[in-house]
Amino acid sequence: MLVDKSGKPRSLKSNKTEGILNQLKTHRKFGSPDVSLLELYLHEAGSKAFEFFPQEEVFLVVEKRAKELQKHLFGYQVLPFGHQKNESNEDFGIFALPNQFQCGKRTVDLLRATKTAPRGAFLELAQHLSLFAESESKRLSKPLGFVVVTYCRVCRKLCLIHKRDEVCCYRCFTPFTGSPLPPIRNLQFSDYFKK
Ligand SMILES: [Zn+2]
Repeated sequence: MLVDKSGKPRSLKSNKTEGILNQLKTHRKFGSPDVSLLELYLHEAGSKAFEFFPQEEVFLVVEKRAKELQKHLFGYQVLPFGHQKNESNEDFGIFALPNQFQCGKRTVDLLRATKTAPRGAFLELAQHLSLFAESESKRLSKPLGFVVVTYCRVCRKLCLIHKRDEVCCYRCFTPFTGSPLPPIRNLQFSDYFKK
C-alpha cells in the first residue's frame, strides 16, 4: 500500500479483505503449515504520516482485517517503511520504523498464525527442493549452509545460490534480480523516423 506525502493511503483496499482471505485459504489448502498476511506500507519521501503510523484511516482497516484473519487462525504482519531523498532530490534509501515491542525486528507482528504440519502438495514441493539442494551441493562441491534454491525462468531449471554467490543463474547467467539490460543497438535515424 502506498501512503502519499499528505498522509493519505492510496489503494487501501479496505473492501479487499474477502479476496485476501480466499488467497490465504488457497495457501492452506495447498498444505502450507504457516499462513500469514504480510502487508507493506510504503510511504512517499517526506510523508509526515510515516512518523505517526498508523494513521486513523489505516488503523481502522488493519483492525477490521485483523479480526477476520484471527477468525481463521491466520497470521498478520505489518511493515511500514519510507523512502527518503537528500538535498539534491536523489533517492537516499529506505527507512523502517523501530519496533517498540520486538527489538531488531522491522515487521510488527499483530497475529501469530496457528501452525499445522506441512502436507499435500506443499510437502511434496519442500521434499523435492530439499533433495535438489542436497544433490546440487554435492555436484558443485559446496557445503550446504545458508543457501537459497531459486528457479530460472530462462533455462527453466533450479539453481542453488550460496550466500556469497552472484545473484544470477549459473547455467545461463540471467540475473535473478530485475530484468537483464536490453541489448545496445546503434540508433539508425532513418529507422527512427519511419515509426
Ligand atoms: Zn538460467
